[in-house]
Amino acid sequence: MVDREFDVANEESNYVGEGMQHKYEPTLVVISSEECLKICEWCFRGRLFQDKRLEKDKIADPKEVVKYAKNHPELRSILFTGGDSFLADKESLRYMISEINKMDHIISIRFGTRAMVHQPELYYEMKELIELSTKVVYFILHIIKPEEVSKELCEITSKGKYFFLAQSPLLKTLNADSKILMEMYQKMSRCNINPYYMFHCRPVEGNQKFVTTFKEGYEIVEATKRTMSGINKRFRYSLSCDMGKLEVVGIEGDKAYLRFHQAKDPKNLGKIITTDANAIWLVDGEPMYLKDGKYIMEK
Ligand code: SF4
Repeated sequence: MVDREFDVANEESNYVGEGMQHKYEPTLVVISSEECLKICEWCFRGRLFQDKRLEKDKIADPKEVVKYAKNHPELRSILFTGGDSFLADKESLRYMISEINKMDHIISIRFGTRAMVHQPELYYEMKELIELSTKVVYFILHIIKPEEVSKELCEITSKGKYFFLAQSPLLKTLNADSKILMEMYQKMSRCNINPYYMFHCRPVEGNQKFVTTFKEGYEIVEATKRTMSGINKRFRYSLSCDMGKLEVVGIEGDKAYLRFHQAKDPKNLGKIITTDANAIWLVDGEPMYLKDGKYIMEK
């Protein structure tokens, strides 16, 4: 059993300042709010809402964000997250966006949000800020079910000027079923929301009922992809663990093949590793299992 019950991906080690994570060279993750409209039961950062915060789990100071981004020419993108970036303080966002506009090395900004799924009209409150950005703007919508691709949401996303992407966790009992996923992706593609990531469920404490093995998850995702066009099925079934972002690229018998798309140690980039297909996660490269409702490191 790892002792990181609420931080299994070791986010603690990504913090470079309060509310700022710099895990992969091109991206700075900014905790811009500590609120969400509804708290998801499967939240991998649920520690924020359960009095289990890490020391640096705080809203980032906008001046520090600007200073850090200016001093790191390797950055290409700033990802506002939280909590929910749509619930961030507007003045802080305005300041950061205006300053980021002056940085040539930054190409895009991203807003991670589920609030826009619950309440699409929040988009209009963000519009002025979005238009202030001279960078490419992406919205990463956290969608888990077909019914969340609502008419109101589609009215906004279908207009086409911005990039709406979706990342969804694969959750047993909620959406780990290829029929549900097919319906969800079909609805999304009709209104300009493109699947970006399907995330393997992070096994933090409390998430036991949602997690799948690599094999179960891969089979569901592959069955879903079989029905999709080449363009729509470019998304990656991935896990974001302590070593980096790995895509589950294949299963053969009891072996799972995983490829690094982002790596904490750059020499791992592009590498393919193998692990037990019946494991549910990797900690330091070692397989983790779920047994009798407990996360364990040995079978
Ligand atoms: S919206 Fe995201 S950050 Fe907020 S509770 Fe849900 S999963 Fe967690």
